[in-house]
Amino acid sequence: MRIVLLGPPGAGKGTQARFLSEHFHIPQISTGDMLRAAVAAKTPLGGLVEDIMKSGGLVSDEIIVKLVLERLQSPDCVNGYLCDGFPRTVHQAEILKAEQVQFSHIVEIDVPDEEIVARLSGRRVHPASGRVYHIRYNPPQIADKDDVTGDPLVQREDDQEATIKKRLRVYREQTEVVVDFYRKWAAIDPKAPKLLKIGGVGDVSEIKTSLFKALAAI
Ligand code: AMP
Repeated sequence: MRIVLLGPPGAGKGTQARFLSEHFHIPQISTGDMLRAAVAAKTPLGGLVEDIMKSGGLVSDEIIVKLVLERLQSPDCVNGYLCDGFPRTVHQAEILKAEQVQFSHIVEIDVPDEEIVARLSGRRVHPASGRVYHIRYNPPQIADKDDVTGDPLVQREDDQEATIKKRLRVYREQTEVVVDFYRKWAAIDPKAPKLLKIGGVGDVSEIKTSLFKALAAI
């Protein structure tokens, strides 16, 4: 399986990515998590991207593509991988195609904007592992503590309402067209990745079930 998960910020990509990664024994490659780790470790890359991320804008295609192409060389990617939040622009998708990076499925998780804003303001994360919770929809066993380690959970800076609205605008303008890119490719080439769209509103386990059913059916 070589999967791309697309969807607006807060669609639940991270949560579903984890299920897919465990089930298919493939690494979850999240460009957002990789960039946040670079910012936290204060690396030169982190210094370059910190302000853009805080503002809700997109990091340059060159930086992202270099990061992902390097990551895909790792031995754990030999039998498949799951890209979460990448490619995020048509240019990124075009470079991957030119570099012959293979994808079997492009999965789009569909969630309306009003739901996203409500959701993201309640999102909490465990920075060290990337585990994601929601104070209402997917609460940790003990409030504000990670289920596995007991570490404190945090709210991401870019989960503030004004930034969420900007990230949604960026998604609608720059990332929805990535789905069109794959749709056009699939229309002319049977070897193109298969496209799936699933509803991302409802219970986490119901969405998981419809995602796995959709993947099994194609
Ligand atoms: P995420 O956790 O996927 O929502 O990513 C958080 C932030 O990282 C985004 O708002 C962007 O600033 C940046 N980012 C992550 N992935 C990409 C990408 N593929 N292209 C450009 N910027 C990205």
